[in-house]
Amino acid sequence: MKITGGCFCSAIRYEAEVDENMVVICHCTDCQINSGTAYGVVVRVIDGKFNLVKGKISFFQKIADSGAKRDLGFCSNCGTRIFAKPDGDKNGVFGLRVGTVDQRANLIPKKQAFTKSALSWVFDISSIPKN
Ligand SMILES: [Zn+2]
Ligand SMILES: [Zn+2]
Repeated sequence: MKITGGCFCSAIRYEAEVDENMVVICHCTDCQINSGTAYGVVVRVIDGKFNLVKGKISFFQKIADSGAKRDLGFCSNCGTRIFAKPDGDKNGVFGLRVGTVDQRANLIPKKQAFTKSALSWVFDISSIPKN
């Protein structure tokens, strides 16, 4: 599926092609902290199909306990996190943050990962009063 997106301040805009069957809710503690909220939601970009059309991506490199490095791309102006990918030009999962995608309403999660570290309330938010 072809999509477009960008950061909160609009300094960064991108276009990409994603696998809409690979939308994952990630409950890992990295995603909780780095997203500033309860969990991350990512969609896998098809290899080589991310194209920055405006702005400049800043990077923070996260080194996992396993030693694997991930490049976390974000906007240095507004702080929106855009994606996480393997370091340098290595192949691997390129996960785009679904909240930055213009068509995010059409990207429905198909799987949840790292549920062991999930916050206890996240699986039943339908019971929380709504206004
Ligand atoms: Zn921005
Ligand atoms: Zn995660």
